[in-house]
Amino acid sequence: MIAREGGRVLLVERDQINQHASGSNAGSLHFQLEYRMIERGVEAARKAAEAMPLHLEAAKLWSDLPDLCGQAIEVKQTGGLMIAENTHQVELLEKKTEIERSWGLDNRMIDRTEIDRIAPYLSERVIAAAHCPTEGKADARTAGPALARAALQAGAQIQTRTEVTRLERHGGRWHVVVTSAEGTMELSAESIVIAAGVWTTRLGQMMGAHLPTIPLALMMTVTQRVPKLIPHLVQHAGGRLSLKQALDGNILIGGGWPARLIRNADGEPNFEAKPELLASSLSGNADMAIRVLPELSRIPVIRSWVGTTTVTSDQLPLVGPIPKQPGAFVATGGSAFTLGPSFAQVLADLIAGRMPDTDLTAFAPDRYERA
Ligand SMILES: Cc1cc2nc3c(=O)[nH]c(=O)nc-3n(C[C@H](O)[C@H](O)[C@H](O)COP(=O)(O)OP(=O)(O)OC[C@H]3O[C@@H](n4cnc5c(N)ncnc54)[C@H](O)[C@@H]3O)c2cc1C
Repeated sequence: MIAREGGRVLLVERDQINQHASGSNAGSLHFQLEYRMIERGVEAARKAAEAMPLHLEAAKLWSDLPDLCGQAIEVKQTGGLMIAENTHQVELLEKKTEIERSWGLDNRMIDRTEIDRIAPYLSERVIAAAHCPTEGKADARTAGPALARAALQAGAQIQTRTEVTRLERHGGRWHVVVTSAEGTMELSAESIVIAAGVWTTRLGQMMGAHLPTIPLALMMTVTQRVPKLIPHLVQHAGGRLSLKQALDGNILIGGGWPARLIRNADGEPNFEAKPELLASSLSGNADMAIRVLPELSRIPVIRSWVGTTTVTSDQLPLVGPIPKQPGAFVATGGSAFTLGPSFAQVLADLIAGRMPDTDLTAFAPDRYERA
């Protein structure tokens, strides 16, 4: 967006584009509150719903994205269902839906008769669901590279295999020291954005800023290709589950089941090491998926994988200006695959000196100090 407006943009990436969370996530486009946002009750859900303006913006931006960036990005917004198997879950879904609707999300409760009509593939155990017509999926393997190509076409530069090792501000500009196989050099910029996933807190430390994030290692599983079965993004109101079918027919099973982060001797997480896949997560996720989609018990799994991502304690993203660091911005936290286009929009506005349409106060990194 900035490059399109004539700004000079350089993306510095230590590894390869899409090598980390952005290329290994489930590709769910979440606009409803997720299980991790409602599992601690209605008040926690109400707090997490403060991110709804970013989700509503993302719903629009994802549908426009292929045209906006002139690239073939696989985006399908064929609706999402958060399902309930008992009356407690139905009540929670009703309250959740009410909160979401108060923010303007198109989402409503449907009963078993309607489930039979639009989602007959779901087990009889499912008694109700919240249906959000704009939810859906995108292909995480191809979306990032497509956006990178669009950025290059708009005039941005991308330097991969290049690590930011120092961030300092003097003379009214940011000085960024980067290291690559060619050696070390210093770049200078009016504005910088830290969008470094689980490494965000460490990059913040380079400039003396506290950017609090909680790292999470998660696992995903994918089945072999099968004929069209699930048109929706399916989530559960009573546990960690997301289910969807990719365009090529594979069914992706996830929803936030943990993998084990590898830690150094001092207890600090080692994000360079691959997290350990946990058998308990593998079986727990599969059990839950088969319970609500019995057909899955006959479909072979072909692969499971792990990845790392960040959340925050209030489940809201960390996005906007970095306090006391003029010209420095951050974007991370939560379902940042879904929210990526909204993050890009608000940051492009801020960098261009415009007031973003969304009030970012609730997402400021220093909100925990203010509370
Ligand atoms: C298994 C899994 C499933 C998920 N499912 C979903 C989902 O369905 N929907 C959803 O919305 N979100 C999902 N997420 C979350 C989502 O993937 C992340 O929030 C999002 O991809 C984060 O994007 P990012 O660009 O901030 O981080 P990343 O994609 O991790 O990119 C950060 C980049 O910063 C680079 N970097 C780090 N340090 C430096 C440095 N010093 N110098 C230069 N570069 C550096 C890294 O090399 C990395 O490439 C999932 C995450 C996981 C792990």
